[in-house]
Amino acid sequence: MSLHSLAAFDGKPFKDEVLDLVDRDAAEAWSASKILTWAVENFHPRLTISASFGAPEGMALIDMLHKADPSTRVFVLDTGRLHPATYDLIDRVRDRYDKNVEVVFPNADEVQEMVREAGMNLFYASHEDRKRCCRIRKVLPMRRHLANFDAYVTGLRRDQNANRANARKIEVDSANGDLVKINPLADWTHDRVMDYITANAVPINRLHQQNFPSVGCEPCTRSVAPGADPRSGRWWWESDDTRECGLHLADLDEAEGSGI
Ligand code: SF4
Repeated sequence: MSLHSLAAFDGKPFKDEVLDLVDRDAAEAWSASKILTWAVENFHPRLTISASFGAPEGMALIDMLHKADPSTRVFVLDTGRLHPATYDLIDRVRDRYDKNVEVVFPNADEVQEMVREAGMNLFYASHEDRKRCCRIRKVLPMRRHLANFDAYVTGLRRDQNANRANARKIEVDSANGDLVKINPLADWTHDRVMDYITANAVPINRLHQQNFPSVGCEPCTRSVAPGADPRSGRWWWESDDTRECGLHLADLDEAEGSGI
């Protein structure tokens, strides 16, 4: 029985009650489908999946979650600077799964002020400007949207980069209102994700076939040489190997002060 059908027994938020009851260490051995089944049973309809539509992990998870419960919610951050291929994929997912993908936009006033002060392509000017753009177009809209939920699913994998090496399958996201953050693919490899994509004919971003392993905003993503670090095409003019947009760091202040 879902905790949502029970009265809170000691006044805690439902998500805290759920966390009290689950053995998070034991959950590290659960399969992706078992993690997702647990998430749907305990958090739906206050569960969503954050998908960039620019990485195969999110697409595999949309497929898995659709099979667990077709009414599970999906959102994408539209920064206003995405590739046309990414917009095409959003519509393909809407058609394939008959799903209303929730498109989340940045605050128009914040974008206008930033562009007025620093220009359309400020991200190339300095690291601080790049972080400002990611904050206004990604981090803050995501935080506002997630305020409507108790839990969200991501496609993080531990072997993607150093920032993600310690990701657990069930976490608390302190940067986003202590939401429950669920990473069902934490222990998957890229090859395992692609095997799932192929076996289930899951739609993916067509730029992956053009050496774009990770597709972000159009001005901040380029193709990479075969065998290169998959994320080396993101913010390529920045040399730090921990480049991130701040969405998946434990604390936004850490994200803004860490040089990423
Ligand atoms: S990836 Fe580039 S365009 Fe997109 S929000 Fe970040 S800095 Fe701005």
